[in-house]
Amino acid sequence: MSIFWSETARLLHPYTPGEQPKLNNLVKLNTNENPYPPSPQVLAAMRQAVNADLRLYPDPQSTQLRQTIADYYQLDIKQVFVGNGSDEVLALAFATFFQGKNDLLLPDISYSFYPVYCQLYGVQPKFIALNEQFAINPQDYSGAKAGVILPNPNAPTGSLLSLPQIEQIIESNRSCVVVIDEAYIDFGGKSAVTLINRYPNLLVTQTLSKSRSLAGMRVGLALGHEKLIEGLERVKNSFNSYPLDRVAQAGAIAAFEDEDYFRQMSTQVIENRIWLEQQLVALQFKVLPSAANFVFATHPHFSAESIYAHLRSQGVIVRHFAQPRIEHFLRISVGTPEQQQQLIQALQALIF
Ligand SMILES: *Cc1c(COP(=O)(O)O)cnc(C)c1O
Repeated sequence: MSIFWSETARLLHPYTPGEQPKLNNLVKLNTNENPYPPSPQVLAAMRQAVNADLRLYPDPQSTQLRQTIADYYQLDIKQVFVGNGSDEVLALAFATFFQGKNDLLLPDISYSFYPVYCQLYGVQPKFIALNEQFAINPQDYSGAKAGVILPNPNAPTGSLLSLPQIEQIIESNRSCVVVIDEAYIDFGGKSAVTLINRYPNLLVTQTLSKSRSLAGMRVGLALGHEKLIEGLERVKNSFNSYPLDRVAQAGAIAAFEDEDYFRQMSTQVIENRIWLEQQLVALQFKVLPSAANFVFATHPHFSAESIYAHLRSQGVIVRHFAQPRIEHFLRISVGTPEQQQQLIQALQALIF
């Protein structure tokens, strides 16, 4: 605390990201990064962008990248917004559509950054409880005043809503913005992008951090009606004109161009997830059905804290949220087969 802080700064409860350990030989399954490297074409494009042009500012509109994304999803460039990671895109969406409003509907168990943005932008959240199976009931989300935000698949549960269920939520909130955060959509879900031309109140956000193995590069995007995108641009241009540097723009373009690599890696992650679920179930874990690159699991005989501490002592890190309703669960990111073997061996040593 300092007398120099504004009231806003004093009242904040900032988001705590998962640990980024300084030790290199840990099996890191705590922040849902992709266990596989980015496409070689992405790395080549980024290396090529490291040249004397770095003395110049980047294209503030990221025109070429936005056009590449528009072509990829068969949208108009005016329906595409990009930012420095989807966390920034989400923050700008809060400022543009929700700031100062009451009754933003969101799940009680969800991405823990949303309540932080609510506080930063003076938004009154209304938390809707997940059902007994830890899933979202679409019928609970209607007639919101400020808007709706939810991840699909949800985090940290991994549970997926179908496209008709998403459409039901958008349909029953036509007078406010519905943000669908698709950080994990490429691991088994159907994107709501195909609904954009029918619903001017739908904003879909995505990231290159998870399915495209580029968490270290910081590129996120939002897709929606051109009036929503125009609003985001207004706020962005009142804050930071150049959120994406030249190297990131080049890498992100290459990421959308190398579709083969993207598909191969997503398929591999899904296969690894299925193996991980089976192994955890064999160790008596209860594992929620996941359509993401992580699983959410609880054990009937060992507390989440004790499993977490044991794994940590064996050089394996996973994520635990000391939060009501989910304090008995661990979120485990999908790793390579070798990483997952180490995890399972460490668990066997504890449980048998
Ligand atoms: C990881 C994650 C993000 C943030 O992704 P970045 O693009 O790396 O900022 C957004 N939403 C959810 C639900 C996430 O899990």
